[in-house]
Amino acid sequence: MTKHRESRRLALAIGCLAFGISACGADALPRNVILISIDTLRADRLGTYGYERDTSPSLDAFARRGAVVERVVSETSWTLPAHVTMLTGLGPATHGVVGPIKRIADETPLLGEVLREAGARTIGLTEGGYMAANFGFDRGFDLFDDAPVGLRKNLERTREFIEERTSDEPYFAFVQTYHVHCPYHPAASMARYFRSPDAEFIETERRCDLYFNRLDLTPGQVRYLSDQYDRTIREMDTMLGSFFDWLDARQELEDTVVVITSDHGEAFGEHGEIGHSWSVDREVLLIPLVIVGAGIGANRLPGPVGLADLVPTLTDLLGLPPIAGVEGRSLAPHLRGEPSQVPLPEERFSEITWKGSLYSVMTDDHQLILDVEKGDTRLISLGEDSQVPPEVRARLESLVEDYRKRRRVTDTPALDEVSPVIRERLRALGYLE
Ligand SMILES: [Zn+2]
Repeated sequence: MTKHRESRRLALAIGCLAFGISACGADALPRNVILISIDTLRADRLGTYGYERDTSPSLDAFARRGAVVERVVSETSWTLPAHVTMLTGLGPATHGVVGPIKRIADETPLLGEVLREAGARTIGLTEGGYMAANFGFDRGFDLFDDAPVGLRKNLERTREFIEERTSDEPYFAFVQTYHVHCPYHPAASMARYFRSPDAEFIETERRCDLYFNRLDLTPGQVRYLSDQYDRTIREMDTMLGSFFDWLDARQELEDTVVVITSDHGEAFGEHGEIGHSWSVDREVLLIPLVIVGAGIGANRLPGPVGLADLVPTLTDLLGLPPIAGVEGRSLAPHLRGEPSQVPLPEERFSEITWKGSLYSVMTDDHQLILDVEKGDTRLISLGEDSQVPPEVRARLESLVEDYRKRRRVTDTPALDEVSPVIRERLRALGYLE
């Protein structure tokens, strides 16, 4: 692996001499990775993605120093399979963790495992529920904790982990948080932000997706939920801001790459539903991806990319060989502005096969959703055109049909039992009655 890293360094150095790329240099390969997954964060609720409310000043400023991918389409719309895709580089069918009590197969390589094997010390901090150790997320971490202690605490623990390393070994830190997930409970001090005049209070504690989707919510109540969501984003942004300041004070980004992303978005009635895990509409699929640090120049990449692209991108950025069987594509040449860029695929596929069987194909301008149970397709224009030419529909229908035919679901083990702790956590997050 060291040899691979050395040859990557050499190739980079030659590329730099020939093309004079600003981000190049002997230190252009990062050593460390910090991956932060803000569960349930929609891209379009962040300033860096054009949101009109000032929800994310710290993240926006941070993003300007690195790469922002404009269109990132999650492969699915709920926590468990989306995070498995994020940490394996495999689509949902291939990793096979597509039902509520499935766990990651022992033979599926996870990013933490691969980086530890390559010499990194590893820490994984999640807030439980579908991110609990029982689902297999603890594999590959020297230290893993799924206690729901909150983002602030887990960023503190990440700092301690980085500070307390006794040797100069590289590290991988993975942090997942439900901070912006329903029940959307920001601190009282956030109440001054984002007050829609027509918002009507509705209790959210223990009343997430399942509950809301059975109510005939008024537009004012939906507005309230959406305002609360924005407040939790602003609060999360403050926590990230302090963490970024700490990284800067240590000059940590000189040899570290920081990734901020999410697993799926959140619906606020755009297509009749609240929450996620019910649909594959754009509000639950479009997520942010911000990559800042060593070797990454300021850049906005149009995409589209998916979560499966993250693992190959990170191994490539670190100068490690690709993991065998990975389905995603490395964005590293695009991030480094290298001349040898392989074009990214023009369309992205997503699916949910838990509460129904829905498949989506998304291009720059259109999305087609196939509902297998209802036997119908819905074509959505994402751009300006209100009249979609019939050949577009035919092309997308054939693409989604090919995707379904290609798809082979890997048989994965089920959990032996769902512990009372996980059950309670899932109930609080709105996944169980
Ligand atoms: Zn999630």
